[in-house]
Amino acid sequence: MKLHIKKDDTVIVLSGKDKGKKGKVIFSVPSQGRVAVEGVNVVTRHQRASQSSPQGGIVKQEAPINSSNVMVVCGSCKKPTRIASKKLADGSHVRACKRCGENIDK
Ligand SMILES: [Zn+2]
Repeated sequence: MKLHIKKDDTVIVLSGKDKGKKGKVIFSVPSQGRVAVEGVNVVTRHQRASQSSPQGGIVKQEAPINSSNVMVVCGSCKKPTRIASKKLADGSHVRACKRCGENIDK
């Protein structure tokens, strides 16, 4: 399965407890079709003291959510949009906004 969402995209959440939230994609897990979004689906983990965190304690971390629950927000028209694939003169493809046609990939 190919993910149309990439790291650093701005997305909006369409369902779940964080519905309506906007954030930046921190990382994606293409094999699972999931993306982790800043401030969305934050889970609290209790961590034992270790060498990297001698204090141990509570760590907040974004857990990846299903990519079908988010939509990319276009940087040009600022609206959530579906992604169109545009072919360039040199044969490569870029992602574009279905609403305004602007390229999402710079
Ligand atoms: Zn647009």
